[in-house]
Amino acid sequence: MKSKSILKDMTPYKPGKQIEEVKEEYGLTRIVKLASNENPFGFSDKVAEFFSNHQSMLNIYPDGYTAKLRKALAEKLNISENQLIFGNGTDEIVQLIGRAYLYPGVNTVMASPTFPQYKHNALIEGADVKEIPTINGYHNLTEMFEAIDDNTNVVWLCSPNNPTGAVIPPDDFFTFMEKCPSDVLVVLDEAYFEYVEEEQRLNVSANIEKYHNLVVLRTFSKAYGLAGLRIGYGIAHQAIIPRLDVVRGPFNTSTIAQEAALLAMEDDEFLQSSIMRNRAIKKSFEKSLDSLGWGYFDSQTNFLLISTPISGDEIFQFLLKNGFIVRSGEGLGAPNTIRVTIGQETDMQELQELLFTLDKRISEGLAP
Ligand SMILES: *Cc1c(COP(=O)(O)O)cnc(C)c1O
Repeated sequence: MKSKSILKDMTPYKPGKQIEEVKEEYGLTRIVKLASNENPFGFSDKVAEFFSNHQSMLNIYPDGYTAKLRKALAEKLNISENQLIFGNGTDEIVQLIGRAYLYPGVNTVMASPTFPQYKHNALIEGADVKEIPTINGYHNLTEMFEAIDDNTNVVWLCSPNNPTGAVIPPDDFFTFMEKCPSDVLVVLDEAYFEYVEEEQRLNVSANIEKYHNLVVLRTFSKAYGLAGLRIGYGIAHQAIIPRLDVVRGPFNTSTIAQEAALLAMEDDEFLQSSIMRNRAIKKSFEKSLDSLGWGYFDSQTNFLLISTPISGDEIFQFLLKNGFIVRSGEGLGAPNTIRVTIGQETDMQELQELLFTLDKRISEGLAP
């Protein structure tokens, strides 16, 4: 059969280990999953309530326009309803952007390491990928700008960057936008937006009118705790949205996801408490890494990329058999690191103790 030839050289996304799988493999009863940056505090009670009362509309197709959520979100962000697109997770919007703007003969610019789906989708569309190394986890916007040529269609900026956690400073972002050719689409992925300190956030609503070539991506999967429902959104000038809407499936987000996102958005208390708890736990975890002497990257998210004295894969294996699933940096393009989602307080304390044990074994020359 004649598939796109690039597909032969590519592999499907390899998800973090599933809890049940690890329990069985290692004979463990309790597993702490800190591998996918999910919200360890769950999700809004309002969403839980909705689920126990609404089982009647499963036979009806969802609203393909996502009208209720669209209206509420446009109001909240102070933008027009035609400046929004919804996706089955932000992942789908990344795919839609690739489908609409990338094809053989053009190229796309991104950081390295960064969120792997940008490259994955670009390769499927046949575009060339230009990867610009980060500096201490930060995007090198000077080099990224220099990499833009006449055939560049899309630049991907991830802020905070996954897997490093570093934000793009607002001044640097705006300087980049001023220089960037106006026919090059700039995608700013803000999956962890809610975790970023106020003064480091970019004011999108004002910028969407100004920059006709900007798409901002946000999600309900991370701070809102709805990763299992798959819903995210893109904010862009009204001229961009119709291009993406053409390639979008007609019913790409479910009724349940739309309703839950709306309720989650209205529950500011849950959101703020998740953010505050995350900040406090992250800080104390950072302190324990300091006392261990292990380095980590600046992070304005609910995860930390930690530099490790031995390979990330070895640390990953050690933690796995002790009931903790983290991400090895080896597979994320960041060798000798692990990426750890900030979990609940007691779990993080247990993890700290494991890391101290491990560090001791390493310094005594023992195998992890
Ligand atoms: C988690 C994540 C996403 C995907 O989020 P979904 O909305 O769940 O698809 C996109 N970008 C980055 C940087 C992420 O970390």
